[in-house]
Amino acid sequence: MKYVVYTDLDGTLLDHYDYSCEQAQAAIDALLHREIPIIPVSSKTRAEIEPLRQRLSLTSPFIVENGAAVFIPDSDVFQSFDKAGLKKQGQYWVKSFSPDIVYWTSLIEELQVSVVDAFKSFSQLTVDEIVELTGLDHEQAGKACRREYSDPLYWYGSESQFKQLELLCAHVNVDVVRGGRFVHLLSGADKGKAVSWTQRQYEQSRGSKPTSIALGDGENDLAMLACADIPVQVKSPTHHFPDFHHERLYRTQQEGPAGWNEAIFALL
Ligand SMILES: [Mg+2]
Repeated sequence: MKYVVYTDLDGTLLDHYDYSCEQAQAAIDALLHREIPIIPVSSKTRAEIEPLRQRLSLTSPFIVENGAAVFIPDSDVFQSFDKAGLKKQGQYWVKSFSPDIVYWTSLIEELQVSVVDAFKSFSQLTVDEIVELTGLDHEQAGKACRREYSDPLYWYGSESQFKQLELLCAHVNVDVVRGGRFVHLLSGADKGKAVSWTQRQYEQSRGSKPTSIALGDGENDLAMLACADIPVQVKSPTHHFPDFHHERLYRTQQEGPAGWNEAIFALL
């Protein structure tokens, strides 16, 4: 195996509007035929990523909730992975880079004692509310709710309350980051850390370092692109390429999954 492919999902492998990856199917088939692992690296939850892996017949590991954890299927291929610090969860070995949901739930409850009536966490919202806020359908919203390592906040408080939240979180070394509609509480995990760790496992288990190709369209993909041998910025229909420089950077001409397809055939 010479390559490992790490890929963002929304807006990269999946179309921004209809979540289809049909236009990347030829490249996906070519990679699977050559036994090159395709590793999803997404802000999505495990419950959201699993059906896609099944649909695409992916058997490789995957990375959830913006780099919070790597899920490694308990298959022959990964017996040689270093299992120190991993926990067994069903059919997977899990390497986590973030506290689990129990930590976030109790932190959020504590924060709500001081910062009153300013936000609700994802897990405090009903599925109907999430449908309304995100535009996901009911089934997808249900899966997006099944969070294991993070709990984004729907924010409706004031600026002074936001500053108060930042101050309280700083005391416990948690960063507060504004996203589009949600505010994210982060404790050091990112896509880059999770990808670097996974690369090391491939290197150790194969005895030589495979070349990593990483594809992403957003700001939250830059840490992953920075640690890849060949980074690919996939063109987005909604925003410019985020500022990023690398001597082997490939920027696609086409958008989303069509750009994904273009990059894989151009690089291999
Ligand atoms: Mg994206």
